[in-house]
Amino acid sequence: MSGKHKTGHEQLRDLLQWGRSLLEEADKDGREARLLLEAATGLTHVEILVDPTRPVSRSMAEEYERNIWRRTAGEPLQQILGTADFMGFEFHVDKHVLIPRPETEELVEWALETIREEGAVRILDMCTGSGCIPVSLGLLQDGLKLHGADLSWDALEVAGGNASKHRVEVSFHQGDLFDALKGTDVEAFDLILSNPPYIESETLKELMPEVVGHEPRMALDGGPDGLAFYRRIARDARKWLKEGGWLFLEIGWNQEEAVRKILEKEGYVQITPRKDLAGHWRMVRARSADDKEVLV
Ligand code: GLN
Repeated sequence: MSGKHKTGHEQLRDLLQWGRSLLEEADKDGREARLLLEAATGLTHVEILVDPTRPVSRSMAEEYERNIWRRTAGEPLQQILGTADFMGFEFHVDKHVLIPRPETEELVEWALETIREEGAVRILDMCTGSGCIPVSLGLLQDGLKLHGADLSWDALEVAGGNASKHRVEVSFHQGDLFDALKGTDVEAFDLILSNPPYIESETLKELMPEVVGHEPRMALDGGPDGLAFYRRIARDARKWLKEGGWLFLEIGWNQEEAVRKILEKEGYVQITPRKDLAGHWRMVRARSADDKEVLV
């Protein structure tokens, strides 16, 4: 084991040690080497553990080496692997979509409670990205009519692939927020979710290189104050929600008050923020209705 490059046939154990130390030198989590080795060799964790001296073909070792270098250069692990876990399901991801985050799982769990309690059926995910929200809702609850919208054709291609992979029927629409639905025969929704871009343009520069350098800017940039999409979604979602329909938004950790005000101004009722497991206000639920028409 000498030098930084690997050539020829190698044993699993050597490759693993080599990858781990390179990742650690680059301030990454060395344990990711195992995941990259599993991906390159097609072996499972257990197979690697029980037979650590097993030789690896040159092409597999080279793929592993390339991926270790990509990771040390800051590319997110999920993009290298091409998959991300969300709600316990595996989703394909690439550079065109935001990598699903655990906070968003909490938004989905909350929406699912409401869907079940209220019998909501017609659901829209606005800014759907990888499609992880509608697809996991479809996997967790039967009988839903699921729609997803996004500005990015590339993202919609990923989302469509994820829906087929999991055999969930989702109608996808391309366009600028609710313009995506104009001219379609889509009817109003019982519930709309969105995890829109919400980072302030200036703050974006300060995020980790993994995020700014590799995830799509259009999935993150919420305009000068980070709230541009909430204003537009709050305004237009009222037209696309049935009377009494529900809006679920993921928000930045410091946006609870601002988003609440936007929702109040647009006439939503029962505006309820919720904290994530880390204790931050990271989501809001609101109802599209006049006060008098909803029993609070
Ligand atoms: N949660 C993401 C982040 O902090 C941002 C997602 C978004 O803007 N919708 O990187």
